[in-house]
Amino acid sequence: MDNIVEDIKGILKFYQAMGFEMLPISIETLTRRYGETGNNSLRHAASPGSRATALKETALKALREEIGDCRRCRLSTGRKNIVFGEGNPDARLMFVGEGPGREEDLQARPFVGDAGMLLTRLIEKMGFKREEVYIANIVKCRPPMNRDPERDEIESCRGFVERQIKIISPGVIISLGRISSQTLLGNAALKMTAVRGHFFDYNGIPLMPTFHPAYLLRNPKDKWLTWNDAQMVLDRLRDREKQEKGERTTET
Ligand code: URA
Repeated sequence: MDNIVEDIKGILKFYQAMGFEMLPISIETLTRRYGETGNNSLRHAASPGSRATALKETALKALREEIGDCRRCRLSTGRKNIVFGEGNPDARLMFVGEGPGREEDLQARPFVGDAGMLLTRLIEKMGFKREEVYIANIVKCRPPMNRDPERDEIESCRGFVERQIKIISPGVIISLGRISSQTLLGNAALKMTAVRGHFFDYNGIPLMPTFHPAYLLRNPKDKWLTWNDAQMVLDRLRDREKQEKGERTTET
């Protein structure tokens, strides 16, 4: 029974993320189709290759197609590539940075330059492989000379990262740096030194702001603070896992 409930929850979340307000399929059909097999493949953060992962992958692909050869803001004129984001569509942990830099623009992949190497080290130190988490940015095109993205550029693009988050539905989000934290938390006055190390609520998902890896490259003495933040995130993920396991045992 727990499998069916988890499956249905997963499917409902998926359709909600796709923007449906009503299910385009009956609960009976869903239960017949996914419940009878007794699998738990639609559970949140299911194993790669599961039906939940496939559904999320499809939704992300559709979103990427919707972005198309984007000309919604002036950043499109200087970019070489759109950097959509990458990783496990069903990740428990999602990182959101600011916007692509030179290397990311060339490779069409997020966080592959020097700051990206530091982020990858952090991810691995946390016990994940890079491909097990999801990495995205607030803006998908490189701002010229790596300047901060401007308000109107952020506004034209933020809907996409918001939809990526909805689809992936991670257990925890880490926002990297001021622009990402301010955008996701809707507070343009927020200061990193005041907010890092504290959880905030992002539409029901715990969000931990921490320093941007580019900042840490310039200020290595602050790396331990980000490591502290990462440990709080790991604790939260463990608690969540325990709670999910508990819910499944009480349901049986
Ligand atoms: N900085 C970011 O914020 N994002 C990237 O993808 C690379 C560097």
